[in-house]
Amino acid sequence: MLNLTSKLTEIKGVGPAIAKHLTKLNLITIKDLLNHFPYRYEDFSNFLSINHLKIGEKATIKGKIQLINARRSWKRRLTITEAVIKDNTGSIKAMWFNQPYLANTFKPGDEVMIAGTLTAGHYGLQLEHPIIEPLARGGVHTGRLVPIYYSTANLNQKIIRNLISQILPLTHSVSDWLPTEIIKKFKLPTLPTTIRSLHYPQSFQELSLARRRIIFDELLFINLKSLLMRRQLNFKNAHSIPFNEQTKKLIAGLPWQLTNDQRTCAWEIIKDLGKPSPMYRLLQGDVGSGKTVVAGIACFNTVKAGFQAAILAPTEILAWQHWQTLTKIMEPWSITIALLTRTHQQINNQKNNKAGEIKEKISNGSVNLIIGTHALLQTEINFQNLGLVVIDEQHRWGVEQRNYLVGSKNQTPHLLSMTATPIPRSLALTLYGDLDISLIKTLPAGRQPIITKIIKPPERQLAYQLIRREIKSGNRVFIICPLIEESDNLGVKAAVTEYNRLQTEIFPDIKIGLLHGKLKSVEKERVIISFKNGQAPILVATSVVEVGIDVPEATVILIEAAERFGLAQLHQFRGRVGRSGKRSYCLLMTDTITPRGLERLQAMTKFSNGFDLAEFDLKSRGPGDLLGATQSGFLKLKFAELANTELLKTVREAAQYLINLDTSLTRWPKLKAKIKLENFHPE
Ligand code: ADP
Ligand code: MG
Repeated sequence: MLNLTSKLTEIKGVGPAIAKHLTKLNLITIKDLLNHFPYRYEDFSNFLSINHLKIGEKATIKGKIQLINARRSWKRRLTITEAVIKDNTGSIKAMWFNQPYLANTFKPGDEVMIAGTLTAGHYGLQLEHPIIEPLARGGVHTGRLVPIYYSTANLNQKIIRNLISQILPLTHSVSDWLPTEIIKKFKLPTLPTTIRSLHYPQSFQELSLARRRIIFDELLFINLKSLLMRRQLNFKNAHSIPFNEQTKKLIAGLPWQLTNDQRTCAWEIIKDLGKPSPMYRLLQGDVGSGKTVVAGIACFNTVKAGFQAAILAPTEILAWQHWQTLTKIMEPWSITIALLTRTHQQINNQKNNKAGEIKEKISNGSVNLIIGTHALLQTEINFQNLGLVVIDEQHRWGVEQRNYLVGSKNQTPHLLSMTATPIPRSLALTLYGDLDISLIKTLPAGRQPIITKIIKPPERQLAYQLIRREIKSGNRVFIICPLIEESDNLGVKAAVTEYNRLQTEIFPDIKIGLLHGKLKSVEKERVIISFKNGQAPILVATSVVEVGIDVPEATVILIEAAERFGLAQLHQFRGRVGRSGKRSYCLLMTDTITPRGLERLQAMTKFSNGFDLAEFDLKSRGPGDLLGATQSGFLKLKFAELANTELLKTVREAAQYLINLDTSLTRWPKLKAKIKLENFHPE
């Protein structure tokens, strides 16, 4: 007997080949597959008779195959399978490329259901690549809202759909983690019903109830987690770190004036540091708004009060960059700063200190500020008196990682997270409970709006002329290569090819640098340094430049195949330029453009700040992109549609209701297990 934990290989029809593909998708057990939800649905629920088919309209027809055969096309080197289907109102042609087996599976006289869109193409009026299934077994792939799943090459939708429809009855034994009180009070479908509806909804209405439930769950877990975390924190002690007069002098000595927002945020943080309970604050500010220096000020104040501070960056390059920036700012103040990443272990400007030596100095307190990556978390470090932890680009960190530095000691350090991800207020309340937020709303003075343009192939030369002109005036140019999905998941090959082409054909007289994820860190730094100092003023890169790289001289970023990137990513790319008073450009290169894709790129030209873009991104999700797949990119939520303030409110109400009933959640062990109490930040 199959049950939820049975291996998928125990299902009839799952042989080694299919199992291999399923494993690739991380689908091992029945439960895994039941939780593999469709990311969209094709609406083939409209049954029509053949004489009612309209061009461009999706429909399912029922009919009899009159004729079916496969032939090789001498011109296009492919197999064409053609069929004529008849019902009592007329007949219609159907055609498939490269699916010769269809002519063996179906034969004249078979009763079938066919779902597709009537097209008037090169080959006349017909159904191109419709889905076909025998009438007797009909209703899985046609004649309904048909689920479309994430898959890999060679594992077609029909196989996944057939498997799921086979195991769907097993949802009966899925037990619900939501307390029945909540299910009743908020009129939610049960978990088994939800799972069934998500896979095979009878209607959009049923689907939307199921979606509501799954989003509700996702947000509820996060909300409960952060409420409980906050509660825990309230019982913890922290070092009270007084304001230090020298901090004023540090600020006065900066090469520019702080913006009002930076000043306000720094002050909010410093006030929190002075309290005997741990700070739990998010510093939010669009790309380029100057968060680093605010964090630097907080660290400085901490260090001057005799405590240690640590900054965690998501990549080695960023850690290194922060180290450079902050070393410069703090140089006159005799502060000892350590950089600890996989490739760098150094204290101040000494090279190659031994990791052991650094650890020693951290634990005896002679290192004041530690900047690092994961490496910092992986090594056993005993801080002498860690007062403040700063986490840069917080959305890039796993909860456990962030938790590591913060959780262990009896004196909890203050925590400052930083993010460029814009979060509307109602959402922040749900996601972070009562986490405090400081917001940098404006960019430093003198910044010009970045000119964003969509560039079609015929205008490519103009783009190159602009680049040439900018380089002549002493500026720098980023060229971002497209995301390649196949074998080469980092786009390395594309970047290398493009680099060669540009260097030999387009800009033979300008030195170009190449940056991609396969380079060693030291090489990456070398490339960035020669880009910064102008030795190689053009940088061809994969998406590794996405977060945080700060080169104020950069005035152009050209993004190839821009339509392949998400809006959040494009916005991060754009944030690499316009970091000084100079006029900057973001050029979005594209040749294939669907109306939807064009609309997205146009949003880039319309909106300059991340907040507006995030909102557009959420609103523009079609009813087809239902779950999971099209994560908004601005937030790492799997399902939630964040614009739904009514639901956000309901979730908060539910969380509060549960916590009032039982703060420890012990009444609901399954729910409790879902919410890992040890997590510091919501996922
Ligand atoms: P982000 O918020 O994206 O992390 P950074 O902290 O990297 O931004 O700052 C972006 C750039 O702006 C840096 O080059 C930094 O030196 C500069 N900058 C920061 N604050 C100011 C300011 N008040 N005036 C002028 N430039 C500033
Ligand atoms: Mg930054």
